[in-house]
Parts: sequence; structure tokens; C-alpha cells
Amino acid sequence: MGQVAREAHAKDRVVGLVPTMGALHEGHFSLIRAAKSECSPVVVSIFVNPKQFGPSEDFHKYPRAFEADRAALENLGVDYLFAPTPEEMYPRGFRTTVAVEGLSEKLEGRSRPGHFQGVTTVVIKLLEIVQPNRAYFGRKDAQQARIIRQMTLDLNLATQIVVRPIHRESDGLALSSRNVYLNADERRAATALYRSLEATRQKIAAGERSAVLLLEAVRHVIDSEPRVVLDYAEIAEADTLDPVVTLRGECLILLAAKLGKTRLIDNALIEENNGSFRVTL
Ligand code: AMP
Repeated sequence: MGQVAREAHAKDRVVGLVPTMGALHEGHFSLIRAAKSECSPVVVSIFVNPKQFGPSEDFHKYPRAFEADRAALENLGVDYLFAPTPEEMYPRGFRTTVAVEGLSEKLEGRSRPGHFQGVTTVVIKLLEIVQPNRAYFGRKDAQQARIIRQMTLDLNLATQIVVRPIHRESDGLALSSRNVYLNADERRAATALYRSLEATRQKIAAGERSAVLLLEAVRHVIDSEPRVVLDYAEIAEADTLDPVVTLRGECLILLAAKLGKTRLIDNALIEENNGSFRVTL
């Protein structure tokens, strides 16, 4: 991969990287299309990263669909697929962990201790291996995107981090490789995450600014679906990820919930502009 990057940089080409864990879906494709429109060559990595899964999480049963993924990437005109093995990424004796302190322990990090250290450790390795000018991430994983951006700032990494919108099904469910775990009833109930965010959008449009009251609206929708068990719902400042009392500046509503054994996350972006607020789901 280093050779590819060196040759591309020598020709002043813009190298794009889209890191994924495979089982590719339209959410991934939307990142790849954005990368294709801005970069050449485009590299997609597929690596189910053992370091970002906790001991009781779904590493072993995480969906793997390598041949279908490879064909889809070829159809999309992706230039390179980088699909290392765990042994190549973490050979015997591997000892380094990269951690973005302060942002990694909140929200997802509280429910999944060590998760973001696994993410930042693999992402910095991918950036070093591929040396992209631009790397593409989804706002679906808003906390992850925030942490990776902080890592590139703190460590003077040359790669520009691009964060793209959430791609949703027509009923609002955010696309996720884990959606295949849902049975038909859970799949129907899963729209509660989106509907709860939509409820806050309506409350905000009607003038509500209190985080407590907005989160009450979230819980009201989630609680009406007995199959959905909320892990957390928070409204946080987009920059610090600290909880807010009253909406201001740029905030995120972040949710995690379980449906049976499947854990899903979702979020909405709230942006203030001259005292009015725009909510993007
Ligand atoms: P994953 O394979 O789940 O690790 O995701 C790889 C990248 O795709 C991450 O940057 C995700 O945020 C992004 N992604 C996953 N689902 C979506 C989605 N529904 N919309 C946009 N981006 C997504």
C-alpha cells in the first residue's frame, strides 16, 4: 500500500481512504461515492478489528461478506481494497495503544470500555499504511468521528478527516451492518430510535430548548416500544461531548439501545444559527 501512496503523491494525486469493517451497505457506499468524487485513487479497507470489541461483544459473529463486498467495490470503481488479517495488523509482540483521553470514556466509551482505544489504534495504523490525503467517516458514528478528528489534530497527522451524513432506510432506520441481526419484529421496532430523534426535532421546531425535556420526549417514544431497551440518551456539545442543559451552538443527541441481543446507535446533529436551530437526522 505504501508504494501506491508514494506513486500517487508523486503525481500530486489525492488519495482517499474509506475504512470499514465490511458487510458493506448503502451507508458505506455513500462514503465511497463521496471519496470517488473527490479523490483518485480511492482505497477501501475492510478489517473487522478485534481490538474494538469487548470480550462479551459480537466479534466472532460480526457479519462477514468478503466476496460480495469485493464485487460491490469493483462495481463502484474502487481502485484498491485493503483487507489485512489480524496477524498482519497485530503481529506477535504488538504493544502500542493510541487513546484520545477525555472523549473516549463518555457515551459509547462508558458502555464499551476500551472500544475507542481499539478504534484509534487501528485507524492510525490504516492512515500510516495507506497515507491518504482524505479519510471518510460517517456521522452515524458521531463520537468516533469526533475522536478521530482530535487524534489527527493532536498527532499532526496530514490526513483530512471528512465526515458524511447518515444514510437511512426509507423508514428512518440508520443503515448498519448489525441490522442483519434483527428479526422481523425487532426490525419494525428499531425505527423507534429514528422516531425518537424526529420527536425532538419537532419539539425543537416548536421552541423547546431544555435538554431534560427533549430527552423526556426521546424516552417517551423509546418506552412505547417494549422491544427497545435504551442504554443511553444524551444531548452533548458536539466539540467536548459534555452534556448540555440548554441547546446552544452545535450539539448532538446521541442514543444507544438494545433490541434483543443487538445493540444499535443513532444520533441527530443540532446546529444553532442566529438563535434558530436546525436538526439533521
Ligand atoms: P463500519 O463498517 O460499521 O465500521 O463503518 C465504516 C464507516 O461507515 C464508518 O465511518 C461509519 O460511520 C460509516 N457508516 C456506517 N453506517 C453508516 C450510515 N448508515 N450512513 C453513513 N455512514 C455510515
